[in-house]
Amino acid sequence: MGNRFPARERFADGAQFIDGRLRPGTSGRTHAVVDPATGEELLTYELAGAADVDAAVAAALAAYPGWAGATPGERSDALHRFAAVLADRATEFAEAESAQCGKPIKLSTEFDVPGTVDNAAFFAGAARHLEGASAGEYSGDHTSYVRREPIGVIGSIAPWNYPLQMAAWKILPAIAAGNTIVLKPSELTPFTSLMFAQAAQEAGIPDGVINIVNGAGADAGERLVGHPDVAMTSFTGSTAVGRRVAEIATATVKRLHLELGGKAPFLVFDDADLEAAVQGAVAGSLINTGQDCTAATRAYVQRPLYDAFVSAVAALMETVRLGDPFAPSTDMGPLISHAHRDRVAGIVDRARGYARVVTGGSAPDSDDLHGDGLDSDDPRDDAPEGAHVARVRLAGGAYYRPTLVVDAAQDSEIVQSEIFGPVLVVLPFDSDDEGIRLANDTPYGLAASVWSRDVYRTGRATREIKAGCVWVNDHIPIISEMPHGGYKSSGYGKDMSAYSFEEYTQVKHVMYDNTAAVRKDWHRTIFGDRL
Ligand code: NAD
Repeated sequence: MGNRFPARERFADGAQFIDGRLRPGTSGRTHAVVDPATGEELLTYELAGAADVDAAVAAALAAYPGWAGATPGERSDALHRFAAVLADRATEFAEAESAQCGKPIKLSTEFDVPGTVDNAAFFAGAARHLEGASAGEYSGDHTSYVRREPIGVIGSIAPWNYPLQMAAWKILPAIAAGNTIVLKPSELTPFTSLMFAQAAQEAGIPDGVINIVNGAGADAGERLVGHPDVAMTSFTGSTAVGRRVAEIATATVKRLHLELGGKAPFLVFDDADLEAAVQGAVAGSLINTGQDCTAATRAYVQRPLYDAFVSAVAALMETVRLGDPFAPSTDMGPLISHAHRDRVAGIVDRARGYARVVTGGSAPDSDDLHGDGLDSDDPRDDAPEGAHVARVRLAGGAYYRPTLVVDAAQDSEIVQSEIFGPVLVVLPFDSDDEGIRLANDTPYGLAASVWSRDVYRTGRATREIKAGCVWVNDHIPIISEMPHGGYKSSGYGKDMSAYSFEEYTQVKHVMYDNTAAVRKDWHRTIFGDRL
């Protein structure tokens, strides 16, 4: 297993990226980043405090006039170069993302990194398509037109589940539109956001346009949201923290974009392709170890397919290879931390009082963990330290087995609360009305999927499900051209796509008098006939 984080040397000067250079945080507190796959420390860094946030905001403010004044073509050129640097560094980014998050290397390599490169390429193009509405003479005496302008310094806060993609989703539309930004990643996963900012610098994006502060939420996070020179807050994270962020942002009259929690339903009608739905449910619930805001969490299956669906999902979950994220054939890695595993296990354990755990529901035996060289019949038995040492190291990881729960009531905790782990609950339904009603019956509305061969059923379900994204006969794919964002308690505003420019720009009405008259017609309302 060896050294799992070769990129650590990059951060010898600190884990804050302010005005184009790395420096240590000055909060007086440190944070040890732990490899979720082994429990071993990857790097301890000095956390950002208020002074670091202030310095980052000052750098972003100083860089703003130059960047906002660049032509769309100049910003686009810089973003094209940025996409190329990211593509060149793909392996390095994938390894760092897997090291800090514990995500399987095949997921980082095939999803996180290419998605990020594509996002950069998309916004390089989109930067040249920012437009206001066309001009016109709406009063007869005036010409009106609309300018679409950047907002200023954006303060963004991101979670730990997809740190690289979250950095991309926050930073790219903001800077493509001419804003500058201070991003606070989760303190658990600081590295790929820093590497992202360094790659931008290498691509020629001026210092100060992108700043990264790695600090704790209640400290650096609240300072950033409340900062008077920050014009807008864009937050991705849990609904509970989102409420707190909204309070602070509202008090300082900031524009706000909230991407919050999810509890996506997976609605299977009785004419669905059962095999496709089963595979979709297992992949869609276990992606990123279920730590995905759009993951399939509640499968509602119409009664005729219910029993077959439950047994096939359980059987398929049991084939999933759980273990070392760096083994290319590992399907699922650990949860982000032991604390989070305890939280996931707590929800499942409480559910045993009112529901049935069909498979999973516990941490695996270390003997069951998958990894290169760990299986005696594995032809690639080349673990450098020997299988035993590798197994002892993996035993320190925060693993939790793919878990299937049935017989839970709709109003129970396991159906209603976001778990953010590899746990799928399956419930039966009878009529289409009931299925759609149950799918809508949580506070969340981020994503959903419907499974059926009947275009009228899927058409109705896609209209009536209250979520920012509804897939038909699939669950999870995202693309740069299409918006991502929630309904209800999952927040508001959109990431990705040209729709994200609605968040990161403001429109200005400019109105020209065309008459050159001293006395305008409307002056009658003041002067009457006097002048
Ligand atoms: P979290 O809400 O605990 O933390 C998110 C970020 O907020 C972190 O950077 C954290 O340091 C910061 N933070 C914490 N307290 C803060 C405070 N008082 N003021 C300002 N910032 C504060 O979420 P998490 O555990 O990192 O991530 C998981 C959550 O993120 C899940 O609920 C998941 O659904 C959500 N999520 C949503 C989306 C989406 O697009 N809607 C995408 C990914 C994750």
